[in-house]
Amino acid sequence: MVKLVVGLDLGGTKIATCVMNEDGEILKKVTLSTLAHEGPDAVIGRIIESIYDVIRLANINKEDILAIGVGVPGPLDSEKGLIKNPPNLPGWVEVPLRDILYKEFKVPLAIENDANAAALGENIYGSGKGIKNFMYITISTGIGGGVVVNGKLLKGASGNAAEIGHTTINFEGPLCGCGNRGCWEAYASGTALARFAREGIKNGIKTIIKDIVDREGHIKAEHVFTAAKQGDKFAKELVDMEGFYLGVGLANMANSFNPNCIAIGGGITNQWDMFYEHMISIMQERALKANVEGLKVVKATLGPDVGVIGAATLAWRLVQ
Ligand SMILES: [Zn+2]
Repeated sequence: MVKLVVGLDLGGTKIATCVMNEDGEILKKVTLSTLAHEGPDAVIGRIIESIYDVIRLANINKEDILAIGVGVPGPLDSEKGLIKNPPNLPGWVEVPLRDILYKEFKVPLAIENDANAAALGENIYGSGKGIKNFMYITISTGIGGGVVVNGKLLKGASGNAAEIGHTTINFEGPLCGCGNRGCWEAYASGTALARFAREGIKNGIKTIIKDIVDREGHIKAEHVFTAAKQGDKFAKELVDMEGFYLGVGLANMANSFNPNCIAIGGGITNQWDMFYEHMISIMQERALKANVEGLKVVKATLGPDVGVIGAATLAWRLVQ
């Protein structure tokens, strides 16, 4: 009998679902819109539908699926399989997703924070292959991450370990989406970079960024990088700051977890050469020497599939 699992990545905008074999190959993947505003019942219906869809498209039977892994936005309780009111899934208050899916599919199910699942996926199939102490950081609109210690995912008491974007780097800093001030995410995420650009423009700084904006007139992080490449002085300063804040946070990560390797994923990696050297030099300057000696900081390799691959890896961990 062929051995297969399902991995499902539940996001605020998309539900991505795959069937994966034991070699880590995706046999089939489907993506649906989450339509999160319709609330948990409708979204759970689409989750179930997407699992049946991917099974059908992979030309297999429900009985061929050994386990299902699900990556979800935090906060959650992974022990109990509960989703606990994530900001991008309105109305999901203590939803027992694992029990609901078990009733439908009757196979072992694991539910973990999406960034933690991604860390496990990168560790087994991506940039962290064979690395015992590994960390994955995703930097896009927010900052998330996951830590693998001695080959095992660091979950914490309830599956919410490594909420690294919400570590404070300035206790008087700007308000973060989580309610705290001065989180790493409020300084170094793509959202933060765009906010710094908007603030500068509002304060009358001359820059071409405001001419690069998207069709709706919004300034995004990528526009700052584009302006910097065109030699814009303010944009170059902002990119420099981005590298600095990333380096500060990485120094905290190196000091806290002492990994052999940190892999960075998310939208920011499209601009890798623009910030990499500065980020590394700040990290090395600020971290304890013993914690950065031999530490590799690399680009994650699984790309946009990291979410479903990570979720499927959770499933394999249940049955291997
Ligand atoms: Zn925060």
